[in-house]
Amino acid sequence: MINIIKKTNIGVTPILSFFKRFIQSTGHNTEQPVARKIKIYARSEHCISRAQISANALKVLYRLQKEGFEAYLVGGCVRDLLLGREPKDFDVVTDADPEQVRRVFRNCRIIGRRFRLAHVHFGKEVIEVATFRGAADEQNDKQVLNNEGRLLRDNVYGTIEEDVWRRDFTINALYYNIKDFSVVDYVNGMADHEAGTLKLIGDTEIRFREDPVRMLRAVRFAVKLGFKIDPDCENAIHDAAELLASIPSARLYDEVIKLFLFGYALQTFERLRHYGLFQVLFPDTEKSLAAEEDGFPKLLVIRALENSDNRIADGKTVTAYFLFAVFLWESVSKLAKEKMAKGLVEFIAYQDAANEIIAKQTKMTALPRHISLAMREVWSLQPKFNIRIGSKPSRLLAHPRFRAGYDFLVLRAETGGAESELAEWWQRYQNADETEQRKMTQPQRKNQNNKSGRKRSYRKRQNSNSAANSED
Ligand code: ATP
Ligand code: MG
Repeated sequence: MINIIKKTNIGVTPILSFFKRFIQSTGHNTEQPVARKIKIYARSEHCISRAQISANALKVLYRLQKEGFEAYLVGGCVRDLLLGREPKDFDVVTDADPEQVRRVFRNCRIIGRRFRLAHVHFGKEVIEVATFRGAADEQNDKQVLNNEGRLLRDNVYGTIEEDVWRRDFTINALYYNIKDFSVVDYVNGMADHEAGTLKLIGDTEIRFREDPVRMLRAVRFAVKLGFKIDPDCENAIHDAAELLASIPSARLYDEVIKLFLFGYALQTFERLRHYGLFQVLFPDTEKSLAAEEDGFPKLLVIRALENSDNRIADGKTVTAYFLFAVFLWESVSKLAKEKMAKGLVEFIAYQDAANEIIAKQTKMTALPRHISLAMREVWSLQPKFNIRIGSKPSRLLAHPRFRAGYDFLVLRAETGGAESELAEWWQRYQNADETEQRKMTQPQRKNQNNKSGRKRSYRKRQNSNSAANSED
C-alpha cells in the first residue's frame, strides 16, 4: 500500500480550501473531516481484476481516459468486487461534466434533477457516469438544502477529493482508478471493509439529516453484506428515524423495493423494526403487528418474507405487490370487518377498506397503479375462496390473479388467518380433472336432503296448517 499525505498530482491547497469552505458553508464547524492520509492500494495489493469488470464499464472508463478525463469505478461495484461478489451494476465517476460525457458517447442520455448523471446505454446494460461532486457552497444555487438540512439539489461539480466526502459510507467511497488499476482510499474505507464495519463519512447526525434515506441504506448494506453498523451510526438512526417521513414517497417506494426484493427481506424487516424505521415506512402494518392476536398477524408478514427470500434463493421471482398486499392485509381486513358490522356487504366493505388503507400508505411510499391494482385483486379474491359450490370456483380458477390469490390464501391458512381445510380444498381442486372438479363443486347430498326435507316439511306444515285450519 502506498501511504502518502498528498499525492503529487493533487495539490494540498485545494483540499484544505475545500475543508475550509465545507466548514464555513455547513455552519456546523465542529467534527468536520480533517485532511487525512490518502491510501493508494496498488494492483498487487487488492483483489480486483479487470476480468470481473463488465466489458461495457471498461469501455466507458478507457474512452474517458483516452479523451483526457479522469475515470474511476466507485461505490457498490468496488465494494462488492473487493468482497468477491458480483456487482449489481457498475458506477463510473469522472471529472468530465455531464455535457462533456455526452459528447464522448453517442449512446448517452442525461438524467436526474437532484443529481444530474449521464447514462451510457449498451443494449440492456446501462453504465451510470457521474461527475465528481463538489463541496457545499452557500453562494451556489446549484446546491439547495431545505429548512431541515435536507439536500434538494446537488449539482456542484468538483474534484475527487471533494467527491469523496459527499458519499455515504466509507466502504462505498473507494475508487478504482483505470489509469493504474489501483484503489484510492481517502476515508480509511479499506480498513472498515476488512473489519466489516459500516461507517458514515463525516458527522453522522448531519449526514442523516442531509439525506435520511442513508438510514435505510445502512440497514440494507448491513444485512446484505453481513456488516455491523458503527455504534455512532446506530444511535443516530434511533434518533433520526422520523426524518424519513420528509422524503418524497416515490423515492421511498424505490428504496422499499431494494430493501425487500433482494433476498434478505426477513432480516431487513427485523432490523428496520429494531431501529424504528419500519413504523415510519409502514405505520398501519406496525400497528397491526403490535395488536397481534395469538401471534397470527405477525406470522403472516414473517412467513411471507421468509417465502420470498426462499424463492429468490431458488432463483424464482418475487413481486412487489404481493409483499405490499401482505403488509397491509391485516389493516384492510380489520377495517372491512368494521364496515361489515355497520351493514356494508362484504364485497363493498373490502373494496372501501382497500381504498382507504392504500390512500394512507401512499402518503409514505408511493404505490404505482399497477401495484395497487394487483394488491386490490389479491385481497378481493380472498372472500371468494369461501365459495366452493356451483360455477364460481371454476370462474375463480380462470381469474388472471388466481395464483397469487391462492398463494395468499395458503399463507393465511399457514398462519391461522384462514381454515387450512379451505386451502387444501383449493389445492385439490386445481389439480383435479374436469369431472372431479364438477363433483367437488356439486352441492353436498346432505344439503340436497336438507333442501328437499325443508320443502317437504314446509308442505307438511302447510298441510298440517290447512288441516288445523280445516279443523277450526
Ligand atoms: P448497490 O449495490 O445497491 O448498487 P451502491 O452502493 O452502488 O449499492 P448506489 O445507489 O448504486 O448504491 O450508489 C452508488 C454510490 O453512490 C454509493 O456507493 C455511494 O458512494 C453513493 N451514494 C448513493 N446514494 C447516496 C446517498 N444517499 N448519499 C451519499 N452517497 C450516496
Ligand atoms: Mg450501485
